[in-house]
Amino acid sequence: MSNEVWGRVCESLKGSVGNNNYVTWIKPLQFAGFDAGIATFHVPTTFMGNWVSRNFGDQIQQLLMAEGLSATRVMFKVPTQKQAMSSIPTKSMTAKPAAPAVVKRVQPSVEKENVMGAPLDARFQFDSFVVGKPNELAHAAARRVAEGGPVTFNPLFLYGGVGLGKTHLMHSIAWQLQTRTPNLKVVYLSAEQFMYRFVQSLRDRSTMDFKQIFRSVDVLMVDDVQFIAGKDSTQDEFFHTFNALVDQGRQIIISGDRSPSEMNGLDDRIQSRLQSGLVVDLHPTDYELRLGILQQKVELYKSQYSDLVIAPGVLEFLAHRISTNVRVLEGALTRLFAFASLVGREITMDLTQDCLADILRSSDRKVTIDEIMRKVAEHYNIRMSDMLSPRRTRTVARPRQVAMYLSKHLTQRSYPEIGRRFGGRDHTTVLHAVRKIEELKSIDSQISDDVELLRRMLEA
Ligand code: ADP
Ligand code: MG
Repeated sequence: MSNEVWGRVCESLKGSVGNNNYVTWIKPLQFAGFDAGIATFHVPTTFMGNWVSRNFGDQIQQLLMAEGLSATRVMFKVPTQKQAMSSIPTKSMTAKPAAPAVVKRVQPSVEKENVMGAPLDARFQFDSFVVGKPNELAHAAARRVAEGGPVTFNPLFLYGGVGLGKTHLMHSIAWQLQTRTPNLKVVYLSAEQFMYRFVQSLRDRSTMDFKQIFRSVDVLMVDDVQFIAGKDSTQDEFFHTFNALVDQGRQIIISGDRSPSEMNGLDDRIQSRLQSGLVVDLHPTDYELRLGILQQKVELYKSQYSDLVIAPGVLEFLAHRISTNVRVLEGALTRLFAFASLVGREITMDLTQDCLADILRSSDRKVTIDEIMRKVAEHYNIRMSDMLSPRRTRTVARPRQVAMYLSKHLTQRSYPEIGRRFGGRDHTTVLHAVRKIEELKSIDSQISDDVELLRRMLEA
Protein backbone atom coordinates (compact mmCIF):
# COMPACT_ATOMS: atom_id res chain seq x y z
CA MET A 1 0.00 0.00 0.00
CA SER A 2 1.30 3.40 -0.82
CA ASN A 3 1.34 6.24 1.64
CA GLU A 4 -1.04 7.95 -0.71
CA VAL A 5 -3.67 5.28 -0.08
CA TRP A 6 -3.16 5.51 3.65
CA GLY A 7 -3.40 9.28 3.35
CA ARG A 8 -6.78 8.98 1.69
CA VAL A 9 -7.97 6.50 4.30
CA CYS A 10 -6.83 8.93 7.00
CA GLU A 11 -8.78 11.72 5.37
CA SER A 12 -12.02 9.74 5.43
CA LEU A 13 -11.35 8.61 8.97
CA LYS A 14 -10.90 12.19 10.03
CA GLY A 15 -14.38 12.87 8.71
CA SER A 16 -16.02 9.89 10.34
CA VAL A 17 -14.36 9.83 13.75
CA GLY A 18 -13.99 13.56 14.30
CA ASN A 19 -10.86 15.61 14.62
CA ASN A 20 -10.23 14.85 18.27
CA ASN A 21 -10.31 11.11 17.83
CA TYR A 22 -8.31 11.45 14.71
CA VAL A 23 -5.50 13.31 16.41
CA THR A 24 -5.49 11.01 19.41
CA TRP A 25 -5.84 7.63 17.81
CA ILE A 26 -5.35 7.62 14.07
CA LYS A 27 -2.60 10.11 13.44
CA PRO A 28 -0.04 8.28 15.59
CA LEU A 29 -0.50 5.10 13.54
CA GLN A 30 2.35 4.27 11.24
CA PHE A 31 1.71 2.00 8.34
CA ALA A 32 4.26 -0.78 8.61
CA GLY A 33 3.44 -3.22 5.85
CA PHE A 34 0.93 -5.30 4.01
CA ASP A 35 1.42 -9.00 3.67
CA ALA A 36 -0.87 -11.96 3.01
CA GLY A 37 -3.98 -9.85 3.49
CA ILE A 38 -2.77 -8.41 6.78
CA ALA A 39 -2.19 -4.68 7.06
CA THR A 40 0.11 -3.91 9.96
CA PHE A 41 0.43 -0.60 11.75
CA HIS A 42 2.85 0.48 14.41
CA VAL A 43 1.47 2.04 17.56
CA PRO A 44 3.30 3.66 20.48
CA THR A 45 1.74 1.47 23.21
CA THR A 46 -0.06 -1.85 23.51
CA PHE A 47 -2.91 -0.11 25.18
CA MET A 48 -3.35 2.17 22.25
CA GLY A 49 -3.14 -0.71 19.82
CA ASN A 50 -5.90 -2.57 21.62
CA TRP A 51 -7.98 0.53 21.74
CA VAL A 52 -7.65 1.38 18.09
CA SER A 53 -8.25 -2.21 17.12
CA ARG A 54 -11.42 -2.45 19.16
CA ASN A 55 -12.84 0.92 18.24
CA PHE A 56 -11.60 1.67 14.76
CA GLY A 57 -10.25 -1.63 13.44
CA ASP A 58 -13.31 -2.50 11.38
CA GLN A 59 -13.58 0.96 9.94
CA ILE A 60 -9.94 1.01 8.92
CA GLN A 61 -10.22 -2.39 7.33
CA GLN A 62 -13.32 -1.40 5.39
CA LEU A 63 -11.71 1.77 4.13
CA LEU A 64 -8.62 -0.12 3.02
CA MET A 65 -10.84 -2.51 1.13
CA ALA A 66 -12.70 0.38 -0.41
CA GLU A 67 -9.32 1.56 -1.68
CA GLY A 68 -8.93 -1.77 -3.43
CA LEU A 69 -6.62 -3.38 -0.90
CA SER A 70 -7.79 -6.90 -0.05
CA ALA A 71 -7.12 -6.53 3.67
CA THR A 72 -8.66 -9.38 5.58
CA ARG A 73 -7.19 -8.18 8.86
CA VAL A 74 -5.60 -5.14 10.38
CA MET A 75 -3.02 -5.48 13.12
CA PHE A 76 -1.59 -2.94 15.52
CA LYS A 77 1.79 -3.68 16.98
CA VAL A 78 4.23 -1.92 19.21
CA PRO A 79 7.41 -1.92 17.16
CA THR A 80 10.67 -3.22 18.50
CA GLN A 81 13.19 -0.42 18.79
CA LYS A 82 14.73 -1.31 15.47
CA GLN A 83 11.40 -1.26 13.68
CA ALA A 84 10.44 2.03 15.26
CA MET A 85 13.59 3.62 13.92
CA SER A 86 13.19 2.26 10.45
CA SER A 87 9.65 3.55 10.09
CA ILE A 88 10.64 7.08 10.96
CA PRO A 89 11.07 9.26 7.88
CA THR A 90 14.67 9.55 6.77
CA LYS A 91 14.62 13.30 7.15
CA SER A 92 14.38 13.17 10.90
CA MET A 93 16.83 10.29 10.90
CA THR A 94 19.52 12.49 9.49
CA ALA A 95 18.55 15.48 11.57
CA LYS A 96 18.43 13.47 14.75
CA PRO A 97 20.51 10.37 14.67
CA ALA A 98 20.15 9.64 18.37
CA ALA A 99 17.72 6.77 18.16
CA PRO A 100 16.43 6.56 21.75
CA ALA A 101 15.39 10.19 21.72
CA VAL A 102 13.43 9.61 18.56
CA VAL A 103 11.69 6.58 19.96
CA LYS A 104 10.68 8.50 23.03
CA ARG A 105 9.12 11.23 20.97
CA VAL A 106 6.48 8.81 19.75
CA GLN A 107 4.71 9.21 23.06
CA PRO A 108 4.43 12.87 23.95
CA SER A 109 2.77 13.60 27.27
CA VAL A 110 -0.28 15.27 25.77
CA GLU A 111 -1.13 12.06 24.08
CA LYS A 112 -0.91 10.20 27.31
CA GLU A 113 -3.62 12.41 28.73
CA ASN A 114 -5.89 11.91 25.77
CA VAL A 115 -5.39 8.22 25.97
CA MET A 116 -7.33 8.20 29.24
CA GLY A 117 -10.60 9.08 27.57
CA ALA A 118 -12.61 6.95 25.18
CA PRO A 119 -13.53 8.10 21.68
CA LEU A 120 -16.84 9.83 21.19
CA ASP A 121 -19.37 8.57 18.69
CA ALA A 122 -20.12 11.32 16.18
CA ARG A 123 -23.72 10.12 15.84
CA PHE A 124 -24.44 10.75 19.49
CA GLN A 125 -25.17 14.45 19.61
CA PHE A 126 -27.99 16.61 20.86
CA ASP A 127 -29.43 17.27 17.44
CA SER A 128 -30.03 13.57 16.87
CA PHE A 129 -31.55 12.99 20.28
CA VAL A 130 -35.34 12.85 20.15
CA VAL A 131 -36.95 14.34 23.22
CA GLY A 132 -40.17 12.94 24.64
CA LYS A 133 -41.88 12.74 27.96
CA PRO A 134 -39.82 9.81 29.28
CA ASN A 135 -36.50 11.56 28.75
CA GLU A 136 -37.25 15.27 28.87
CA LEU A 137 -35.82 15.84 32.32
CA ALA A 138 -32.64 13.96 31.63
CA HIS A 139 -32.30 15.83 28.37
CA ALA A 140 -32.83 19.21 30.03
CA ALA A 141 -30.26 18.44 32.70
CA ALA A 142 -27.76 17.27 30.10
CA ARG A 143 -28.31 20.43 28.05
CA ARG A 144 -27.75 22.52 31.10
CA VAL A 145 -24.48 20.85 31.98
CA ALA A 146 -23.36 21.05 28.36
CA GLU A 147 -23.65 24.81 28.47
CA GLY A 148 -20.60 24.82 30.70
CA GLY A 149 -20.13 27.79 32.97
CA PRO A 150 -20.40 27.62 36.73
CA VAL A 151 -21.15 24.15 38.01
CA THR A 152 -24.65 24.13 39.43
CA PHE A 153 -25.25 20.51 40.18
CA ASN A 154 -22.46 18.12 40.80
CA PRO A 155 -22.46 15.33 39.97
CA LEU A 156 -25.15 14.87 37.39
CA PHE A 157 -26.28 11.29 37.69
CA LEU A 158 -28.27 9.82 34.81
CA TYR A 159 -29.82 6.45 35.17
CA GLY A 160 -32.18 4.16 33.33
CA GLY A 161 -32.53 0.81 31.62
CA VAL A 162 -30.52 -0.49 28.70
CA GLY A 163 -30.76 1.39 25.43
CA LEU A 164 -32.65 4.40 26.71
CA GLY A 165 -30.07 6.97 25.67
CA LYS A 166 -27.68 7.44 28.59
CA THR A 167 -24.56 7.06 26.51
CA HIS A 168 -26.06 9.14 23.74
CA LEU A 169 -26.69 12.00 26.17
CA MET A 170 -23.24 11.76 27.73
CA HIS A 171 -21.52 11.90 24.36
CA SER A 172 -23.72 14.84 23.40
CA ILE A 173 -22.57 16.74 26.46
CA ALA A 174 -18.94 15.98 25.71
CA TRP A 175 -19.24 17.04 22.07
CA GLN A 176 -20.88 20.29 22.93
CA LEU A 177 -18.46 21.19 25.71
CA GLN A 178 -15.52 20.35 23.52
CA THR A 179 -16.84 22.28 20.56
CA ARG A 180 -17.58 25.39 22.56
CA THR A 181 -14.44 25.31 24.64
CA PRO A 182 -11.73 23.40 22.81
CA ASN A 183 -9.24 23.85 25.65
CA LEU A 184 -11.47 22.22 28.18
CA LYS A 185 -10.18 18.83 29.25
CA VAL A 186 -13.23 16.62 28.90
CA VAL A 187 -12.68 12.98 29.64
CA TYR A 188 -15.39 10.46 28.85
CA LEU A 189 -14.98 6.77 29.60
CA SER A 190 -16.89 3.80 30.93
CA ALA A 191 -16.45 2.63 34.50
CA GLU A 192 -15.01 -0.53 33.05
CA GLN A 193 -12.32 1.44 31.24
CA PHE A 194 -11.66 3.42 34.38
CA MET A 195 -11.02 0.18 36.20
CA TYR A 196 -8.94 -1.24 33.39
CA ARG A 197 -6.70 1.79 33.42
CA PHE A 198 -6.45 1.85 37.15
CA VAL A 199 -5.43 -1.81 37.28
CA GLN A 200 -3.00 -1.20 34.45
CA SER A 201 -1.43 1.65 36.38
CA LEU A 202 -1.03 -0.59 39.42
CA ARG A 203 0.71 -3.13 37.25
CA ASP A 204 2.96 -0.53 35.62
CA ARG A 205 3.60 1.16 38.96
CA SER A 206 2.31 4.37 37.49
CA THR A 207 -0.56 5.11 39.85
CA MET A 208 0.84 8.57 40.48
CA ASP A 209 0.43 9.36 36.80
CA PHE A 210 -3.01 7.89 36.84
CA LYS A 211 -4.08 10.01 39.79
CA GLN A 212 -2.51 13.11 38.40
CA ILE A 213 -4.18 12.72 35.03
CA PHE A 214 -7.63 12.02 36.37
CA ARG A 215 -7.44 14.77 38.93
CA SER A 216 -6.51 17.37 36.40
CA VAL A 217 -9.49 17.08 34.08
CA ASP A 218 -12.13 19.79 33.83
CA VAL A 219 -15.05 17.49 33.16
CA LEU A 220 -15.08 13.81 34.02
CA MET A 221 -17.76 11.55 32.59
CA VAL A 222 -18.02 7.95 33.71
CA ASP A 223 -20.56 5.73 31.98
CA ASP A 224 -22.18 2.61 33.47
CA VAL A 225 -20.88 3.06 37.00
CA GLN A 226 -22.68 -0.12 38.11
CA PHE A 227 -19.71 -1.95 36.67
CA ILE A 228 -17.44 -1.01 39.56
CA ALA A 229 -19.96 -1.97 42.24
CA GLY A 230 -18.30 -4.58 44.42
CA LYS A 231 -14.83 -3.87 43.02
CA ASP A 232 -13.36 -2.36 46.10
CA SER A 233 -10.00 -0.90 45.23
CA THR A 234 -11.35 0.61 42.02
CA GLN A 235 -14.26 2.12 43.90
CA ASP A 236 -11.86 3.52 46.40
CA GLU A 237 -9.79 5.19 43.73
CA PHE A 238 -12.91 6.40 42.01
CA PHE A 239 -14.17 7.91 45.24
CA HIS A 240 -10.94 9.84 45.78
CA THR A 241 -10.85 11.07 42.20
CA PHE A 242 -14.44 12.09 42.55
CA ASN A 243 -13.82 14.06 45.74
CA ALA A 244 -10.73 15.74 44.42
CA LEU A 245 -12.62 16.96 41.38
CA VAL A 246 -15.72 18.06 43.24
CA ASP A 247 -13.53 19.99 45.67
CA GLN A 248 -11.97 21.83 42.77
CA GLY A 249 -15.37 22.67 41.38
CA ARG A 250 -14.99 20.43 38.32
CA GLN A 251 -18.04 18.94 36.69
CA ILE A 252 -18.70 15.23 37.01
CA ILE A 253 -21.30 13.29 35.05
CA ILE A 254 -22.06 9.68 35.84
CA SER A 255 -24.49 7.17 34.45
CA GLY A 256 -25.82 3.93 35.85
CA ASP A 257 -28.49 1.35 35.21
CA ARG A 258 -30.41 2.11 38.39
CA SER A 259 -30.68 4.73 41.11
CA PRO A 260 -27.77 5.10 43.54
CA SER A 261 -29.69 3.62 46.44
CA GLU A 262 -30.60 0.54 44.44
CA MET A 263 -27.09 -0.18 43.35
CA ASN A 264 -25.98 -3.15 45.41
CA GLY A 265 -22.32 -3.33 46.18
CA LEU A 266 -21.71 0.32 45.47
CA ASP A 267 -19.70 1.97 48.22
CA ASP A 268 -21.98 3.89 50.61
CA ARG A 269 -19.75 6.93 50.30
CA ILE A 270 -20.14 6.92 46.54
CA GLN A 271 -23.87 6.38 46.84
CA SER A 272 -24.26 9.39 49.04
CA ARG A 273 -21.98 11.48 46.86
CA LEU A 274 -24.10 10.59 43.85
CA GLN A 275 -27.26 11.47 45.71
CA SER A 276 -25.90 14.82 46.69
CA GLY A 277 -25.95 16.00 43.09
CA LEU A 278 -28.75 15.94 40.60
CA VAL A 279 -30.22 12.50 40.01
CA VAL A 280 -32.42 12.12 36.95
CA ASP A 281 -33.76 9.03 35.32
CA LEU A 282 -34.65 8.07 31.80
CA HIS A 283 -37.98 6.31 31.85
CA PRO A 284 -38.85 3.46 29.54
CA THR A 285 -39.82 4.82 26.14
CA ASP A 286 -43.44 5.40 25.28
CA TYR A 287 -45.11 4.94 21.92
CA GLU A 288 -44.76 8.60 20.85
CA LEU A 289 -41.07 8.71 21.63
CA ARG A 290 -40.42 5.48 19.75
CA LEU A 291 -42.34 6.75 16.76
CA GLY A 292 -40.41 10.02 16.90
CA ILE A 293 -37.10 8.19 16.93
CA LEU A 294 -38.12 6.01 13.99
CA GLN A 295 -39.26 9.02 12.00
CA GLN A 296 -36.00 10.79 12.64
CA LYS A 297 -33.98 7.79 11.48
CA VAL A 298 -36.05 7.53 8.34
CA GLU A 299 -35.51 11.21 7.54
CA LEU A 300 -31.80 10.80 8.02
CA TYR A 301 -31.71 7.73 5.82
CA LYS A 302 -33.79 9.39 3.13
CA SER A 303 -31.45 12.35 3.02
CA GLN A 304 -28.67 9.92 2.10
CA TYR A 305 -30.52 7.38 -0.04
CA SER A 306 -33.52 9.16 -1.49
CA ASP A 307 -35.22 6.15 -3.04
CA LEU A 308 -36.65 4.75 0.17
CA VAL A 309 -40.42 4.16 0.21
CA ILE A 310 -42.17 3.08 3.38
CA ALA A 311 -45.81 2.07 3.34
CA PRO A 312 -48.11 3.93 5.70
CA GLY A 313 -48.49 2.29 9.08
CA VAL A 314 -45.14 0.49 9.11
CA LEU A 315 -43.43 2.85 11.52
CA GLU A 316 -46.47 2.95 13.76
CA PHE A 317 -46.51 -0.83 13.75
CA LEU A 318 -42.86 -0.99 14.80
CA ALA A 319 -43.25 1.64 17.50
CA HIS A 320 -46.14 -0.31 18.86
CA ARG A 321 -44.60 -3.76 18.72
CA ILE A 322 -40.98 -3.18 19.68
CA SER A 323 -41.08 -1.65 23.08
CA THR A 324 -37.98 -3.09 24.68
CA ASN A 325 -35.27 -0.59 23.97
CA VAL A 326 -34.20 1.92 21.39
CA ARG A 327 -31.20 -0.09 20.32
CA VAL A 328 -33.44 -2.97 19.25
CA LEU A 329 -35.74 -0.55 17.50
CA GLU A 330 -32.85 0.97 15.57
CA GLY A 331 -31.51 -2.45 14.71
CA ALA A 332 -34.86 -3.43 13.28
CA LEU A 333 -35.01 -0.35 11.12
CA THR A 334 -31.47 -0.79 9.88
CA ARG A 335 -32.24 -4.32 8.85
CA LEU A 336 -35.37 -3.19 7.03
CA PHE A 337 -33.42 -0.54 5.12
CA ALA A 338 -30.75 -3.02 4.15
CA PHE A 339 -33.26 -5.60 3.06
CA ALA A 340 -35.35 -3.16 1.08
CA SER A 341 -32.33 -1.77 -0.71
CA LEU A 342 -31.04 -5.25 -1.53
CA VAL A 343 -34.26 -6.44 -3.07
CA GLY A 344 -35.14 -2.97 -4.35
CA ARG A 345 -38.60 -3.01 -2.93
CA GLU A 346 -40.88 -0.71 -1.05
CA ILE A 347 -41.04 -1.42 2.66
CA THR A 348 -44.52 -2.82 3.10
CA MET A 349 -46.16 -4.33 6.12
CA ASP A 350 -45.61 -7.83 4.69
CA LEU A 351 -41.96 -7.27 4.07
CA THR A 352 -41.60 -5.86 7.57
CA GLN A 353 -43.18 -8.88 9.17
CA ASP A 354 -41.08 -11.30 7.14
CA CYS A 355 -37.85 -9.49 7.59
CA LEU A 356 -38.25 -8.87 11.32
CA ALA A 357 -40.02 -12.06 12.34
CA ASP A 358 -37.42 -12.97 14.96
CA ILE A 359 -37.31 -9.54 16.58
CA LEU A 360 -41.08 -9.30 16.61
CA ARG A 361 -41.36 -12.74 18.13
CA SER A 362 -38.90 -12.06 20.90
CA SER A 363 -40.48 -8.75 21.81
CA ASP A 364 -43.72 -10.69 22.02
CA ARG A 365 -42.39 -12.35 25.12
CA LYS A 366 -45.13 -11.97 27.66
CA VAL A 367 -44.43 -11.30 31.28
CA THR A 368 -46.49 -13.67 33.42
CA ILE A 369 -48.31 -12.91 36.64
CA ASP A 370 -46.24 -15.61 38.29
CA GLU A 371 -43.00 -13.90 37.36
CA ILE A 372 -44.36 -10.62 38.62
CA MET A 373 -45.34 -12.09 41.97
CA ARG A 374 -41.99 -13.78 42.34
CA LYS A 375 -39.92 -10.69 41.52
CA VAL A 376 -42.00 -8.44 43.72
CA ALA A 377 -41.86 -10.88 46.64
CA GLU A 378 -38.10 -11.11 46.22
CA HIS A 379 -37.72 -7.35 46.07
CA TYR A 380 -39.68 -6.77 49.27
CA ASN A 381 -38.33 -9.81 50.95
CA ILE A 382 -41.66 -11.48 51.60
CA ARG A 383 -42.81 -14.99 50.81
CA MET A 384 -44.43 -15.91 47.53
CA SER A 385 -47.35 -17.31 49.54
CA ASP A 386 -47.95 -13.84 50.98
CA MET A 387 -49.05 -12.78 47.51
CA LEU A 388 -51.97 -15.17 47.75
CA SER A 389 -52.72 -15.08 51.47
CA PRO A 390 -55.54 -13.06 53.00
CA ARG A 391 -53.16 -11.25 55.37
CA ARG A 392 -53.59 -7.51 55.28
CA THR A 393 -50.67 -6.16 57.25
CA ARG A 394 -48.97 -3.32 55.45
CA THR A 395 -45.69 -5.22 54.95
CA VAL A 396 -47.39 -7.72 52.70
CA ALA A 397 -50.40 -5.74 51.50
CA ARG A 398 -48.35 -3.02 49.81
CA PRO A 399 -46.09 -5.37 47.85
CA ARG A 400 -49.17 -7.30 46.82
CA GLN A 401 -50.71 -4.10 45.50
CA VAL A 402 -47.53 -3.33 43.60
CA ALA A 403 -47.68 -6.79 42.05
CA MET A 404 -51.31 -6.28 41.04
CA TYR A 405 -50.47 -2.93 39.54
CA LEU A 406 -47.64 -4.42 37.51
CA SER A 407 -49.86 -7.32 36.43
CA LYS A 408 -52.35 -4.84 35.06
CA HIS A 409 -49.68 -2.90 33.22
CA LEU A 410 -47.42 -5.63 31.95
CA THR A 411 -49.91 -8.33 31.00
CA GLN A 412 -53.12 -8.42 29.03
CA ARG A 413 -55.07 -9.92 31.93
CA SER A 414 -58.37 -8.38 33.06
CA TYR A 415 -59.12 -7.20 36.60
CA PRO A 416 -61.16 -10.33 37.47
CA GLU A 417 -58.45 -12.61 36.08
CA ILE A 418 -55.77 -10.86 38.12
CA GLY A 419 -57.95 -11.06 41.21
CA ARG A 420 -58.35 -14.80 40.77
CA ARG A 421 -54.61 -15.29 40.47
CA PHE A 422 -53.96 -13.36 43.67
CA GLY A 423 -55.65 -15.86 45.94
CA GLY A 424 -59.16 -15.50 44.52
CA ARG A 425 -59.67 -11.82 45.23
CA ASP A 426 -62.48 -9.69 43.86
CA HIS A 427 -61.85 -7.49 40.82
CA THR A 428 -62.61 -4.38 42.87
CA THR A 429 -59.66 -5.20 45.11
CA VAL A 430 -57.39 -5.20 42.07
CA LEU A 431 -58.89 -1.99 40.79
CA HIS A 432 -58.33 -0.40 44.16
CA ALA A 433 -54.73 -1.63 44.25
CA VAL A 434 -53.98 -0.21 40.81
CA ARG A 435 -55.40 3.19 41.76
CA LYS A 436 -53.64 3.19 45.09
CA ILE A 437 -50.25 2.54 43.53
CA GLU A 438 -50.86 5.13 40.84
CA GLU A 439 -51.60 7.66 43.54
CA LEU A 440 -48.64 6.66 45.71
CA LYS A 441 -46.28 6.77 42.75
CA SER A 442 -46.89 10.46 42.35
CA ILE A 443 -46.28 11.35 45.99
CA ASP A 444 -43.88 8.71 47.28
CA SER A 445 -40.62 8.50 45.41
CA GLN A 446 -39.67 5.25 47.12
CA ILE A 447 -42.74 3.54 45.68
CA SER A 448 -42.24 5.04 42.28
CA ASP A 449 -38.59 3.97 42.24
CA ASP A 450 -39.56 0.46 43.34
CA VAL A 451 -42.18 0.18 40.64
CA GLU A 452 -39.88 1.45 37.91
CA LEU A 453 -37.07 -0.86 38.95
CA LEU A 454 -39.38 -3.86 39.03
CA ARG A 455 -40.87 -2.94 35.70
CA ARG A 456 -37.44 -2.70 34.16
CA MET A 457 -36.32 -6.01 35.58
CA LEU A 458 -39.48 -7.72 34.37
CA GLU A 459 -39.29 -6.23 30.91
CA ALA A 460 -35.60 -6.94 30.46
P1 ADP B 1 -27.80 3.39 26.99
O1 ADP B 1 -26.45 3.99 27.15
O2 ADP B 1 -28.82 4.03 27.89
O3 ADP B 1 -27.82 1.90 27.10
P2 ADP B 1 -27.58 4.40 24.31
O4 ADP B 1 -27.32 5.83 24.61
O5 ADP B 1 -26.41 3.59 23.90
O6 ADP B 1 -28.32 3.70 25.54
O7 ADP B 1 -28.72 4.31 23.21
C1 ADP B 1 -28.94 3.15 22.42
C2 ADP B 1 -29.23 3.55 21.00
O8 ADP B 1 -30.49 4.19 20.93
C3 ADP B 1 -28.22 4.54 20.45
O9 ADP B 1 -27.96 4.26 19.12
C4 ADP B 1 -28.91 5.89 20.60
O10 ADP B 1 -28.52 6.79 19.60
C5 ADP B 1 -30.37 5.50 20.43
N1 ADP B 1 -31.25 6.38 21.22
C6 ADP B 1 -31.63 6.21 22.49
N2 ADP B 1 -32.47 7.20 22.87
C7 ADP B 1 -32.61 8.02 21.81
C8 ADP B 1 -33.35 9.21 21.57
N3 ADP B 1 -34.10 9.78 22.51
N4 ADP B 1 -33.24 9.78 20.35
C9 ADP B 1 -32.49 9.21 19.37
N5 ADP B 1 -31.79 8.09 19.53
C10 ADP B 1 -31.83 7.49 20.73
MG1 MG C 1 -24.66 3.07 27.54
